[in-house]
Amino acid sequence: MHPRNPYNKPPDFTELARRYPPLRPYVFINHTGSSTINFKSLPAQKCLTEALFRLDYGLSLTLPDDRLCPPVPNRLNYVLWLQDIVKFTCGSATVRGLDIGTGASAIYPLLACSIEHTWNFVATDIDERSVQFAKQNVSQNSMDNRIFVERVQADGPILQPLHTSLMNFDFTMCNPPFYSSAEDVSRSAEFKEFGPNAVCSGAEVEMITPGGETSFVARIFSESLQLRTKCRWYTSMLGKMSSIPDLVSLFREHSVDNYVITEFVQGQTRRWAIGWSFQDARVPDTFARVSNPTLRNIMPSRNTLHHAFPGARSANILASALRNVLVLISGVTVTSSATPAIYDHSSTILVHARSNTWSRAARRGKLQETVCADQDLPVLRCSVECRQHSSSYTSGDIACELLFTWVEGKDRLIFESFTSHVSHKITSSLKEFGDVK
Ligand code: SAH
Repeated sequence: MHPRNPYNKPPDFTELARRYPPLRPYVFINHTGSSTINFKSLPAQKCLTEALFRLDYGLSLTLPDDRLCPPVPNRLNYVLWLQDIVKFTCGSATVRGLDIGTGASAIYPLLACSIEHTWNFVATDIDERSVQFAKQNVSQNSMDNRIFVERVQADGPILQPLHTSLMNFDFTMCNPPFYSSAEDVSRSAEFKEFGPNAVCSGAEVEMITPGGETSFVARIFSESLQLRTKCRWYTSMLGKMSSIPDLVSLFREHSVDNYVITEFVQGQTRRWAIGWSFQDARVPDTFARVSNPTLRNIMPSRNTLHHAFPGARSANILASALRNVLVLISGVTVTSSATPAIYDHSSTILVHARSNTWSRAARRGKLQETVCADQDLPVLRCSVECRQHSSSYTSGDIACELLFTWVEGKDRLIFESFTSHVSHKITSSLKEFGDVK
């Protein structure tokens, strides 16, 4: 579950029903004495989604009986993860997203627009019935000027609106049909878990696509190879962990190294999401990597690097050494620092390097200055956070570390060599001035 997801514990259904009376008939007390609803009943599920929409987002929702009933907590995880990525990598005042396969609820654009007032969406679907409901849901929430619902053709480009739009997009999102066939559905873990009588109002078009979700996302990827920076982040949810290795192989085959993987766990349901970008803005590891051992070999490389200074007396001394080292590196500026908070061990500074002057080759004069073709573009932007924590409860020893996060740049080696160079210089300066224990 995403740490900002407010549905991290089961709701108090009695209280919900008090605040949203249409839910009352579905609430009962179970054998453990807690109030609940029957999650296998479609009307109960629909009413819960409507209640959460109304009470938590001020939105009204009309859902048909013959299409998926989206659970809000699960869908919110994806929106919150996108919010993290957008916050770190998109500078634009207005954020433009494409929701592929929005469904009858148009749940992603509605939730996202109610949380983020600068976001706008194009939302597509191939299913005429879902498109009609999606339009109605957008209208009844007066979001027509922010969410444009478009019907697209199943055999046409999936990213159709990007191919035709004059404007660039910040992200695409998608909850694709997961399965390749009816047999694939019945083999799925969820089908087995809940049994054939489990409530799933999903229509075939919502659940099944030729080749399953891997082929669907691979199609998005191959279209993105033409569109490239027309959109900052191409992303998709995935229902099967086994789809991830195939997609990462595709990325690697096409030298796309700027990709992200995340995992959403909501109750018994586990989902994944994947994203990739042709731009140079990088995402911190917290949003780009997961610690699932099965996925270890296909995780993107780390964008967040820790360098420990076990001997440094305090974070203030480390911060000051950092500042002294940075001013001596030519071409490097500290573009944002809440000075004097630089002396505060929790402070983060943003470093901007116009050229690589620190690598061994550059220092020997062997390297043609790797200034970006566009003189205003940095070869590297990274943030550096100075941290201090007690390394042992008993001894009370202080451990200090620098946390480097790659923010922007094409070349990972430049980022990594910068962190090593700075750390090495700091270690020498701490020794020289006797600021070590
Ligand atoms: N976003 C909704 C619905 C997801 S179900 C939710 O999360 O609840 C998948 C949706 O993708 C269905 O509505 C289906 O009609 C749509 N779809 C299938 N193929 C598509 C395509 N090529 N382009 C756009 N939408 C498609």
